[in-house]
Amino acid sequence: MLAFGALAGIVLVYHRWLHVNVTTVALTLLLFILLLAAEWGLRYAVVVSVAATLCYNYFFLPPIGTLTISDPQNWLALLAFLATAIIASRLSERARHQASDARSRQRELEVLFRLSREFLQSENLASLLDSIPAAVVNVSAAQSGILYLLEGHRLFRAGYVFDVDVPLLSHLAYSLPGVREEASEMQVPIRTGVRPKGLLLLRGATLSTKTADAVGSLISLSIERAQALESIARDEAARESERLRTLMIDSITHELRTPLTSIKGAATALLGESVKAEDARELLSIIDEESDRLNRLVSEAVEMAQLDARQVQMHFTTVELSALVEQAREACAWVQEQHPLHIDIPAHLSIRADPAVFQKVIANLLENAAKYSSAGSPITITAQAEEKEVAIRVADQGIGIDPSEQSLIFDRFYRARSRTEGISGTGMGLAISRAIVEAHRGSIHLTSQPGQGSVFTVFVSRAGLNGD
Ligand code: ADP
Repeated sequence: MLAFGALAGIVLVYHRWLHVNVTTVALTLLLFILLLAAEWGLRYAVVVSVAATLCYNYFFLPPIGTLTISDPQNWLALLAFLATAIIASRLSERARHQASDARSRQRELEVLFRLSREFLQSENLASLLDSIPAAVVNVSAAQSGILYLLEGHRLFRAGYVFDVDVPLLSHLAYSLPGVREEASEMQVPIRTGVRPKGLLLLRGATLSTKTADAVGSLISLSIERAQALESIARDEAARESERLRTLMIDSITHELRTPLTSIKGAATALLGESVKAEDARELLSIIDEESDRLNRLVSEAVEMAQLDARQVQMHFTTVELSALVEQAREACAWVQEQHPLHIDIPAHLSIRADPAVFQKVIANLLENAAKYSSAGSPITITAQAEEKEVAIRVADQGIGIDPSEQSLIFDRFYRARSRTEGISGTGMGLAISRAIVEAHRGSIHLTSQPGQGSVFTVFVSRAGLNGD
């Protein structure tokens, strides 16, 4: 209708107002048909070509006002209009096809790219398998997707739920030679090499079979990769735990030897003849102190081993941080007898933690701050809520820690070289604290300057988020 309107417009303008010669009219009509054929295709262009020939004949070719088609000029005009219509529509059709081909290829490449990026982001096999159907449904605009794995006959779904026949899926996974389309359902076999692994079912997806095939390969590769990564991680964890066990036994044997040697020496001296009363007292107090140290060492080593073996049962709850810090302060009451203590914790700030276990971290940091700074120098405990975490800081103005040793002090039995003489300790406190913080999925950091003081910062999950 629009085309005929435009045609009538051209005819009217030239016939009534602009009196141009017939060639100009013919060229204008030709141009019009060219545009029409390119934009709307052959069918319209042919119909309008015939109409244009008739109008041309009637209104512009003498004798004007009659339809005499006998004149060869008319045939020529009709032929020119039709040829233009056919050639232009063909050309534009081809260009349209190529453009839509290129567009769909680009879209499918994008699908594969987005999927591969999504699959590579998954941290472990379980989350990868969970995310596959949703990711495929998302990028292929399908209504529903199911990933079926032969191993364990497991199903992972996304989109609307429909019933499936597991034995049939298993049969298809083994027997399908390639992607099959049945009504609106796509069945994509997942296999590694020639070994069948499972099947992907998609309903209402807009994917070509080639892309669906590539999606199948991508899924199988991603599963293989996640499995390989997990098995490497498992091996590494096993090796690491073995290494830790050996290290632990070595260090314990080494660490136990020192107090044992002192005890043994003192006891032998006591058993000797003619020990003066004051010497005997001195020797007994050595035995007393060293056996205390031995006791502490053994219980800390056991605690560390339990944390390593994840044998410490944590009971996570929402705890108000100020209460937790208060408990820690009470647990090492001697600290505030020797140091002014400034505590600044925002009210109602809560964390997710096992209070009994986490409190040990704060108590340990507090004790260290007191042990490694001179009496009378202040200690500050502050807390700051961040987006998902809480940063708890214990700061002192004590002896500080040499930069070269800052990463080592969290190791078991490590005590800073020159500065710890005369200060009792086992070198286990920070190792235990770090293990506890990590069991809370948090982290512990240190900034320190020798002679200026140290700040230990613990990051731990904030409570009150996600409905905690
Ligand atoms: P311990 O205090 O029993 O020696 P830790 O594991 O708690 O063991 O600490 C390890 C080492 O880190 C300490 O021996 C000490 O050298 C250093 N350290 C810990 N906290 C501080 C601190 N606040 N200031 C200075 N040095 C510290």
